[in-house]
Order: sequence, then C-alpha cells, then structure tokens
Amino acid sequence: MSQQTPPPIPVPAPQPESDFYWEKCKDEELWLRHCKTCDSAYFYPRDICPECFSRDTDWVQSSGKGTVHTFAIVHRGPTPPFRDRTPYVPAIVELAEGVRIPTNLVGVEPDPEAIKIGMAVEVVFEPLDDKISLPKFRPAS
Ligand SMILES: [Zn+2]
Repeated sequence: MSQQTPPPIPVPAPQPESDFYWEKCKDEELWLRHCKTCDSAYFYPRDICPECFSRDTDWVQSSGKGTVHTFAIVHRGPTPPFRDRTPYVPAIVELAEGVRIPTNLVGVEPDPEAIKIGMAVEVVFEPLDDKISLPKFRPAS
C-alpha cells in the first residue's frame, strides 16, 4: 500500500492590486495597504480605502505581531484537499496595526485548551509554490 500525496489546496490568484503583497510574502514580509487620508491600515490589499473610499493609499510593513481574535478547529474538511489536512486551525488575527487578517494558526496543538483568544502570535510564511507564500501565525516566542 502506498501513501497518497494529498491533492493541492487552492492557491490565491494574484491580481494587479495584490502583486506587491504576494511578492513581499514570498520575501517573508507582511505588508498592508494604508490610507493616507484617514491614516488607517487595512486588509485585504486594494487601492480604495474601505473606511473613507480615498484612493490616496500606500503600503506599510506590518510588524507581523498580533493576537488571536477568534479561531476554529476543523476536524472535517469541506473538500478533499482540506479533508486530508485536518485537524487545522483557521483564525482571525488582529495585527498590532489594528488590522484583522484571516489566516491559520500553526505550531499549536489543535486543542481548544491550547489556544486562547488574545494570545500573542507572530507571522510565519508557508510556501505553496514559486509565487505564493501564505502568511500564517504561530505563538509568539
Ligand atoms: Zn481612508
């Protein structure tokens, strides 16, 4: 009996607005869009500020530090690629910059007793292919 490789998970498709974001993730840096009009950072990367609709935006580098805002532990994946990776921990992390980012927690026991709302986490990057590295979060050292 041979061990089957799990099918690949769907890979994000970079768009012109997000190319810089994915290039920086590949360099293991997390960058956020920032609105110069209302001085707020936001996620996901797009040219128009979701708070004030200004187009006067730029990029800022995130510290990569944050806290767990919420999480779930998935024991039954919705489709085969995810089914083969259970249990895993999707989460919303609130970055130090005040931005909430959907992600996965890694380096933790997939156990509700091991993960706490508000626990400090830091970004790590999981390469998927030669263009995409996904930002994920582990307990802060
Ligand atoms: Zn704004």
